[in-house]
Amino acid sequence: MTAKLLDGRALAQSLQAQFQEHIAHAVAGGQRAPGLAVIQVGDDPASSVYVANKRNTCQKIGVLSFAHELPAHTTQAELNALIDACNADPRIDGILVQLPLPPQLSANEVIARIAPHKDVDGFHPENMGRLAIRQPGLRPCTPYGVMKLIETTGVDLYGMEALVVGASNIVGRPMALELLLAGATVTVVHRFSKDLAAHVARADLVVAAAGKPGLIQGEWIKPGAMVLDVGIHRRADGSLCGDVVFAPAAERAGWISPVPGGVGPMTIAMLMHNTVQAWQQHLNRPSLTA
Ligand code: NAD
Repeated sequence: MTAKLLDGRALAQSLQAQFQEHIAHAVAGGQRAPGLAVIQVGDDPASSVYVANKRNTCQKIGVLSFAHELPAHTTQAELNALIDACNADPRIDGILVQLPLPPQLSANEVIARIAPHKDVDGFHPENMGRLAIRQPGLRPCTPYGVMKLIETTGVDLYGMEALVVGASNIVGRPMALELLLAGATVTVVHRFSKDLAAHVARADLVVAAAGKPGLIQGEWIKPGAMVLDVGIHRRADGSLCGDVVFAPAAERAGWISPVPGGVGPMTIAMLMHNTVQAWQQHLNRPSLTA
């Protein structure tokens, strides 16, 4: 393997240690601890794992987590009422509603209902819009985590050919906006795009977020390119893999993020980053807390 590994696990741990220290120092000085409301509707097993991870990380770094586990038949009005209550609760700095939601509930309505200053997922139209106009507020966690990993390489993105594979609201689109903000020349491909191989071959930086295991062949990667794999898939044997065929890609790339241990841990670290950011903002401007 010639590529250097982008170790998201190590970076996430070091960021979390910094947040923990920062919170402990503030609490020792008499401040209240940050609070994160974690709302899960129904009992989708993958969501339960993600929610448990988020709550454990909160506990580790000193964020109070307020768990709300609602039944799968929860109505939109009931969920809206809970979000309104969290928006108004001064102990809560961040609100996270685990997606996907059961079919009777609208994720768009839920996202828009969360107060933008408590939207630690960064999905609210105001926060997405702020990223688009180069005035970022709370930033979507996965793309932000990818940017933090890229930062560790010291490589300047100005003028780089960057390719984002996938155009979802939660990963691909905000990823493209982050890369544009960093000065890259950005191409976004999606399920209707043609000739993925040619796009990948041109790219100095590839972010793979299509949700298709092994979609990106290692032989397509430009020698020396940086490869960030957002995809997470469980194989039949229980192991995890990404959207990129790792071994041949690692032979050509300059840097590559593994799955697991790459982008995944960074998503939770950036959720904690956003929670700390929202908390600090609320401490500085108490009128925002309610
Ligand atoms: P999604 O299904 O909402 O979006 C997938 C996108 O990929 C769409 O825009 C689609 O058009 C595009 N696409 C599909 N097939 C394609 C193809 N053949 N060529 C090019 N583009 C194609 O998925 P998502 O929510 O954005 O998640 C993507 C992947 O990232 C999934 O594997 C998911 O599990 C993973 N994910 C990981 C993290 C993390 O923390 N690491 C966070 C969120 C999502």
